[in-house]
Amino acid sequence: MLTLLFAGAARDWPDYEPALTRALSEVGLAARLALPAAIAPEAVDYIIYAPSGPVTDFAPFTRARAVLSLWAGVERVVGNPSLTQALCRMVDEGLARGMVEWVTGQVLRAHLGLDRYAAPQAPVWEPVVPPLAPERAVVVLGLGVLGAACAGMLARLGFAVTGWSRTPKDIPGIDCLSGPEGLRTALARAEILVTILPNTPETENLLNAETLALLPQGAVILNPGRGTLIDDAALLAALDAGRVGQATLDVFRTEPLPADHPYWAHPRVTVTPHIAAATRPLSAARVIAENIRRSEAGEPLLHLVDRARGY
Ligand code: NAP
Repeated sequence: MLTLLFAGAARDWPDYEPALTRALSEVGLAARLALPAAIAPEAVDYIIYAPSGPVTDFAPFTRARAVLSLWAGVERVVGNPSLTQALCRMVDEGLARGMVEWVTGQVLRAHLGLDRYAAPQAPVWEPVVPPLAPERAVVVLGLGVLGAACAGMLARLGFAVTGWSRTPKDIPGIDCLSGPEGLRTALARAEILVTILPNTPETENLLNAETLALLPQGAVILNPGRGTLIDDAALLAALDAGRVGQATLDVFRTEPLPADHPYWAHPRVTVTPHIAAATRPLSAARVIAENIRRSEAGEPLLHLVDRARGY
């Protein structure tokens, strides 16, 4: 019988415990599943992990074969020097659906100019007919699992979609760019810019005074990736100068976003509280169970993190 440690947030245990029990039995695994207080570290075979959970030192888990993250972003664990076990990130159909819904909703809101009609101060009848989707340039930075899913949905809606990633890609219906020159080309097109990149040393402050200056006047920025992608002072300056017309931000350097942060009060910033895409226990539990099954069968793990690359 395997021993699995649930090292996610304790509040999530009531949802994950039945979901994991069921998913493990579906793949034919017998396992004891418990919270840290109930298991000796040296008895643990697999660690189901989230940064919101209690584990920060992986050294005592001498038998653990893998750390299975419940989060897609792994920046808070990937550089942990005590982590010698394999690290897998979460790729979950619920997460991808959530991200597609948030991004599509926000792109349509910006594209249709719906904020113009929200909370009117006076009964003013001023129609502004938006262009149709093929006349709207949307750029998605990051063409991984989530970025590619969003770019694909936007392309199916008819938007003129450009994507950008570290390595070159060929995705039908999307103009795929890469490298520094590709970034400049992409930003110059971006009437609506969506950032779905991981937090790594290379992506930190990718949107700064210099790169924001490449955007078309009045561009809309949607950031469901990570707060570190944006130099906050540069974004606020670009908003005040009108270079950036609106920003909807889901992720921040400090979360919860401090009450005195200028984003809260800015008239052209919408703050959403890291809700773009949540891991869903039922589908995530199936991913975890399948990875444990693979590991026990000597098969390659899914969604293994490249520790040197950082994602
Ligand atoms: P992923 O599959 O690992 O994809 C990452 C993408 O970013 C890849 O296309 C990668 O390029 C690209 N990339 C990485 N570093 C780059 C660089 N230096 N220059 C250019 N492109 C670079 O990740 P994912 O599952 O799509 O998730 C993306 C991020 O979304 C996560 O890391 C997390 O931060 C964020 N997220 C947010 C929420 C939320 O609720 N707001 C929820 C889940 C995830 P290559 O394809 O060439 O490697």
